[in-house]
Amino acid sequence: MTDFDSWSQSKKQHPFLGHFIREPTMTHPELATYRRQLLALHNRLDGDVSFLTDEALGKAGDESYVRLSHAPIHMADSGTECFEQQFTLGLRENEERRLQEVAAALERLEQRVFGRCEECQQTISQTRLHALPYTRYCVRCARQIQGKTAER
Ligand SMILES: [Zn+2]
Repeated sequence: MTDFDSWSQSKKQHPFLGHFIREPTMTHPELATYRRQLLALHNRLDGDVSFLTDEALGKAGDESYVRLSHAPIHMADSGTECFEQQFTLGLRENEERRLQEVAAALERLEQRVFGRCEECQQTISQTRLHALPYTRYCVRCARQIQGKTAER
């Protein structure tokens, strides 16, 4: 049984408790769905980040070591390898950032503020949450924030 389930059950046992909790952004089954979705995403990203870390450090397939010890290093080869490592590290950075966003969204779920825009406090549309369950902002605010960053 998850924390969320036990929370829902304890709430059922104490019907007046609901009055002390801030107006929920959505129903419990909806929240449970997002929680499952976010946890699955968290697991996947977590795996991806470890994989990409190993890959960037050359632990995954030891092919590069084998090649280095048996064949002379060509400039082109090492250049490609360097580029690939940079690419992998960049990818890893992206995945790690998303992982942090997913963790933050799970935190918001626990705090019962999931689905509320951090900027304008309005409810984020379900369509947007389905596509991007870890988003912090509604479409309007996200667009404004993105516009600001683009100007910098
Ligand atoms: Zn907003």
